[in-house]
Amino acid sequence: MLSFLTEENQAARDTAREFASSKLRPAAQEIEQSGRLPAELFRELGRLGLLGLAVPQDYGGSGGSFLSCALAMEELSRASAALALSYGAHAFLCAHNLYARGGEAQRRKYLPKLMSGEWIGAFALTEPEAGSDAAALKTRAVRRGDRYILNGSKTFITNGSAAQIFLVFARTQRGSGRGALSLFIVERDFPGFAVGKDIPKLGTCGSPLSELHFSDCEAPAENLLGEEGGALAYMRRGLDMERAVFSGMAVGIGQAALDYSLSYAMRRRQFKRPISSFQLIQEMLAQMATEIEAARLLTCQAAWRLDRNMEASKCASFAKLFGAQMVLRATQWAVQILGGYGFTRECPVERFYRDAALSGIGGGTSQIQTLIIAGELIKEALRETKKP
Ligand SMILES: Cc1cc2nc3c(=O)[nH]c(=O)nc-3n(C[C@H](O)[C@H](O)[C@H](O)COP(=O)(O)OP(=O)(O)OC[C@H]3O[C@@H](n4cnc5c(N)ncnc54)[C@H](O)[C@@H]3O)c2cc1C
Repeated sequence: MLSFLTEENQAARDTAREFASSKLRPAAQEIEQSGRLPAELFRELGRLGLLGLAVPQDYGGSGGSFLSCALAMEELSRASAALALSYGAHAFLCAHNLYARGGEAQRRKYLPKLMSGEWIGAFALTEPEAGSDAAALKTRAVRRGDRYILNGSKTFITNGSAAQIFLVFARTQRGSGRGALSLFIVERDFPGFAVGKDIPKLGTCGSPLSELHFSDCEAPAENLLGEEGGALAYMRRGLDMERAVFSGMAVGIGQAALDYSLSYAMRRRQFKRPISSFQLIQEMLAQMATEIEAARLLTCQAAWRLDRNMEASKCASFAKLFGAQMVLRATQWAVQILGGYGFTRECPVERFYRDAALSGIGGGTSQIQTLIIAGELIKEALRETKKP
């Protein structure tokens, strides 16, 4: 499938696939049950060059494309959505955004440790009162001499309790205008910074989810990332990238559900025949395969456009919205095909079913993707009507 992949895309996908089948799939149930990510798996991702797929080699990355990132995301999610979520928060939300917005000194200081997996990264945007309406965030950063003083709280931060470095959005001006938000690099041991409790959750168990607290937290002025007041634009571009790449997660979970249910349906016999011979079972399998392929193609298109610096908001929202709907259906069908076994904790499809629910929430809910798509359609139609 995917006849248009370059050698670079295929190499990234094959490396992730080999790691997923040899190291990650055997550890997936243990990650889920213990509720923790093995640090050695992160280092292995670093050794394989997967932590810096779209970061240039000069900074320890692999110099690849966003399309490769989405393919790697699919392969890792197919084995463990928990590890894939932590991987994505680290490699794309933290490391790649740091590369994209950072100055030379910031890149040299932080990227090598993030690329090798020695340090784990996190991305801190969401707050207790600012989720979908992220630009309404309240964390404040005030410049005092050679430092910024941060006050506020973040919630639902992936990798919070495991990370050494955090990209933190904070308000540097009053009001809600374009120049109100800025982005900072905060290290775990900065004075006034604390990680709160881990938050138990429905799926992706093993990927830590935490609160963060800033109480007169001191960040050196040189840890401002990009321009003061520039973070709203960074957020928008960063979210397009997040949506395109993380859509690979829905595809990977859906594919895992199809792989498992197809192989089960060919082994399980009822009425003296394999259940795969029943047309009602075949319909579910065929529908799953079709929707997974459609979600994969939408994901590839969004990543392809980002790689060419083309406008990608609508395509990224197409991929994210359809992927979220597809993976809920695919995992539900998988539970149905497995019957009673699919409903038990002894069977991985119940994990896929729980993991799938995140796709319609993280990185912008399905309702927000719908609003973005509708907004783009209306903008395009208005442009058409103004044409002579
Ligand atoms: C497992 C997990 C990992 C996460 N990791 C991170 C992370 O690493 N960093 C980070 O910053 N954040 C992270 N998040 C937060 C995530 O991005 C937010 O949960 C998400 O953006 C939704 O915000 P909310 O939870 O506050 O929901 P709300 O915004 O309160 O939404 C609640 C409901 O209202 C709907 N809604 C809201 N506004 C509208 C509207 N205008 N029209 C119609 N419906 C609307 C939503 O679609 C949803 O159904 C994570 C969340 C989870 C669950």
